[in-house]
Amino acid sequence: MSDCIFCKIVEGKIPCGNIYEDEQVLAFDDIHPMAPVHVIIVPKKHVSTLLDVDVKKSDIAGNLIAAAQKVAQIKGIAAKGFRAVINCNAEGGQVVFHLHMHVLGGRKLQDQLG
Ligand code: 5GP
Ligand code: ZN
Repeated sequence: MSDCIFCKIVEGKIPCGNIYEDEQVLAFDDIHPMAPVHVIIVPKKHVSTLLDVDVKKSDIAGNLIAAAQKVAQIKGIAAKGFRAVINCNAEGGQVVFHLHMHVLGGRKLQDQLG
């Protein structure tokens, strides 16, 4: 999508701190980190929200989880623990409408989710 900031990152039009990449996904450092490790993982193909994922037709969810495992290893937070979050729509806190997973870690995270 032409006006989507994460599509522009995927297309290389906006630079990012590239952490991990494969055919399906791109992972990069969040521009406003909420924790010592805060990585965003996006499917390369534009999908607006979690509600738009057809789990019977694509393996986007599996691809995001596989990438989260790799990111956690790369960032050295797998053993201590981390949080993987997908915000959906306004009350879920979604601001960028290109599906993405947050991987947060590197400190003890709050028990509350919001
Ligand atoms: P949301 O609230 O939609 O789940 O999260 C969007 C995230 O994307 C936010 O944490 C925000 O800091 C991050 N973000 C927004 N624009 C950019 C950008 O241009 N570059 C990077 N690296 N992160 C961004
Ligand atoms: Zn997009």
